[in-house]
Amino acid sequence: MPTDSALPIYINGLTKKYGELFALDAVDLNIRSGEFLTLLGPSGSGKTTLLMAIAGFNRPDAGSIQFGDTEMILTPPHKRDVGMVFQSYALFPHMTVAQNIAFPLKLRKVTEAERHQRVEEALETVQLGGLGHRHIDQLSGGQRQRVALARAFVFKPRILLMDEPLSALDKKLRERMQIELKQLHRQLGVTTVYVTHDQREALTMSDRIAVISDGKLAQVDTPQTIYNHPANGFVADFIGESTILPLNNDSSGQLSFNGQHVQSQPADATHRDWSLVIRPERLYLSEMSDAPGRHNATDTPLALDGIVKENVFQGETAFVLVTIDGGHEVSVRFGTGSMSQAGHLQPGDVVTVYLNRSDAIVIPTGDH
Ligand code: ADP
Ligand code: MG
Repeated sequence: MPTDSALPIYINGLTKKYGELFALDAVDLNIRSGEFLTLLGPSGSGKTTLLMAIAGFNRPDAGSIQFGDTEMILTPPHKRDVGMVFQSYALFPHMTVAQNIAFPLKLRKVTEAERHQRVEEALETVQLGGLGHRHIDQLSGGQRQRVALARAFVFKPRILLMDEPLSALDKKLRERMQIELKQLHRQLGVTTVYVTHDQREALTMSDRIAVISDGKLAQVDTPQTIYNHPANGFVADFIGESTILPLNNDSSGQLSFNGQHVQSQPADATHRDWSLVIRPERLYLSEMSDAPGRHNATDTPLALDGIVKENVFQGETAFVLVTIDGGHEVSVRFGTGSMSQAGHLQPGDVVTVYLNRSDAIVIPTGDH
């Protein structure tokens, strides 16, 4: 639940150049009050540059950043009332845990009695109660991460910024912290901008995801929409696993693959070339006894004949790599429970891969 003091952020035409390189290229982004928004993109796409511009640590060449009604572009970082968690944590090694967390309160001249109480509360919130006296070098990586987090929100900022805060943690701890951060956000209600290059982390944590590529926003939407309706090939490829296949356009907009129509409606005329995006978990094989929708007459599935190239067991799921007629490869992911019969498939087996038309994702080709 958003607090009364959470602030929306309005970014307009934000541009930052390093020499000839556009690290940010006319970025427009509205972040809602109390929202958890994730900036997701590959390394070098401009995520940190955008976060640092919001925090005030770099000066854009053009554009505007408003917190609510107030233009912030000329406001120095310490006057922006923003909590920040860095990838490296940036804790003070010579101070105790409690002194680290109290630091922003001291800067803001909070009285000692109140400082003490706020630090204790923050320690409880990040589940480090009783560890205030410890030195930073006596903490594990996960505990340090919690200290950095507590220091970022202890002064009740109206905006919280986090730059890949979990990347130094091992997978198990990282996945647990993702859920904890999500819960903490719900509890604090603070407008949060979170940076990651990990698409699964973004899908797990966010109210909305802003996908960034080469300093431009490719798509801003909910995790479900980004996954199910990627705006273009970059998003389709970057989020989730996908196979992207070229479609034939009969010039009236009827799109087909290997002679089969992929959707009942013709595509709009804005683009000539279209591609089919296939998610591995939406495909099924005739071998799968639990295959969905096989007998649904109103949605005759696309049927792609092919030959098994590989069958890869990965624990909770497995996938079969199939070379389909025409030479493209698709992967079919399935659960490994006792109901699944696809586990017996061998390289060289002849199979048919099915895709329900309602699961077909169609995007313009080569459009970024
Ligand atoms: P990300 O955080 O998504 O990995 P960055 O925002 O750090 O990306 O960088 C975006 C682009 O700007 C990259 O090409 C990077 O090399 C460049 N860049 C970032 N900071 C500087 C700098 N201080 N000087 C020159 N180029 C920079
Ligand atoms: Mg970065």
